[in-house]
Amino acid sequence: MGECWGKGTATFMIGGEICTRSCKFCNTQTGRPLPLDPEEPTHVAESIQLMKLSHAVITSVDRDDLNDLGAAHWAKTISEIKRLNPETTSEVLIPDFQGRSELIQLVIDAKPDIISHIWKPYAASVPWYEVQPTMQPV
Ligand code: SF4
Repeated sequence: MGECWGKGTATFMIGGEICTRSCKFCNTQTGRPLPLDPEEPTHVAESIQLMKLSHAVITSVDRDDLNDLGAAHWAKTISEIKRLNPETTSEVLIPDFQGRSELIQLVIDAKPDIISHIWKPYAASVPWYEVQPTMQPV
């Protein structure tokens, strides 16, 4: 963190600490997440402002438990970052949103500078979840 912060860059993980998936390469706790913190988007933006970051990377746990899979929370976070930090570039490492294009569009419409995604096998990583998502690349 110190090296990145010194270069004006830091990464934030939103959506809580518990993920609905269990990718084998990841140490994040898997389970039923807590409700989203509605103040988190503003708090992330305020932290970026305090740290005077020139570039902020945002990632999240997956929130398959939510109707919108956390897309609105993502969009609000990007909007708040841009509102409080108009000179800071934002790079978002987003979930697959189960391939639901309208949710991905919600994030795109918030206009982050860079959008990235790590492709993860869904069905094998969510043993307790019953929804069968679209697996088409978007
Ligand atoms: S979806 Fe992301 S946070 Fe969740 S277990 Fe997989 S790599 Fe980790």
